[in-house]
Amino acid sequence: MTRRGLLGASAAVGAGVAATAATAVGTASAGPSARPSADRSAPPGGLRLRWLGNNGWEIRIGAGDSAATVLIDPWLTRFWTGTYSEAGAAPETPIEVDTAVIDGYGLRADQILVTHGHYDHMTDVPHLAKTTGATVFGTESHVNTMRAMGAPERQLSVVAGGERLQYKGYSVQVVRSLHSMGGEHPRVAFAGTRPGQVPKAPETISDLVEGGSLSYLISVNGFDIVNFGSSNFSEHDLEGIRADLVMIQPGGANVPGYVPRLLELLGHPAYVVPTHWDDFDEPLDRPAVDWGGLDALRDAVRKASPKSRFVKLDHLETLSL
Ligand SMILES: [Zn+2]
Ligand SMILES: [Zn+2]
Repeated sequence: MTRRGLLGASAAVGAGVAATAATAVGTASAGPSARPSADRSAPPGGLRLRWLGNNGWEIRIGAGDSAATVLIDPWLTRFWTGTYSEAGAAPETPIEVDTAVIDGYGLRADQILVTHGHYDHMTDVPHLAKTTGATVFGTESHVNTMRAMGAPERQLSVVAGGERLQYKGYSVQVVRSLHSMGGEHPRVAFAGTRPGQVPKAPETISDLVEGGSLSYLISVNGFDIVNFGSSNFSEHDLEGIRADLVMIQPGGANVPGYVPRLLELLGHPAYVVPTHWDDFDEPLDRPAVDWGGLDALRDAVRKASPKSRFVKLDHLETLSL
């Protein structure tokens, strides 16, 4: 088999360069009146979700001195990997962390939530941990790998799923999840764990193993945001969780009822925001290039949950709620 499909890739070819600067390309707004479901919490106001490309999100809660920022899978460096090319991701691709690019975005963070250990999710997190001072949550494997990448030890927090953390004005719940599986013999790309001890520092993208997958629920005054870092989920672990806004990604073709089952489980969220739909070999400071799954995801959401608002953001665009 070819490497194609290991990451659920489609056939968009891209010769990528790193993003160079933060550019706000616009703001989408959806006020409380847009909420189709009256029996749910209204958006709390002062909540801003900015898409950093791939599964990278900046969630800002509140304003002024009491404002807080939660980052999910922030990845700004973006080096070429071939992931969405015909040949698929080249395992020997060297990892790059461009601190000038990352620092150019001027991100702040109180917490950084890692969904899994792959290159397009975790590569920039150790540097951002240093510059922001944020608490970083991940599995033992993620944390061990980030230790090897120089992340500040005192900020690293090993979680397994089920933890709930209360902060001023919001809470974070860790949810055990699953990664998508692709290829002729369905399996997780760059699978594996790094338990027990700090591994050697990762050099290539294949050194950044999945290490288990997590989802996160961020609850702001009863408005519940759930993010999935891959196109799969653990039904059992979602019991009792209802979302007002869910970030889900295209794919899941070999997961029975991926979209309808997930939206049903989550109680048909008022907002469905697509994530991880851009070809990340293309630059972040330009409009996102669909790797080929967005239309199918939109159609599946419309069919499964017609009252949900499908809110597609472009690179660096903000949804204000
Ligand atoms: Zn992955
Ligand atoms: Zn990914």
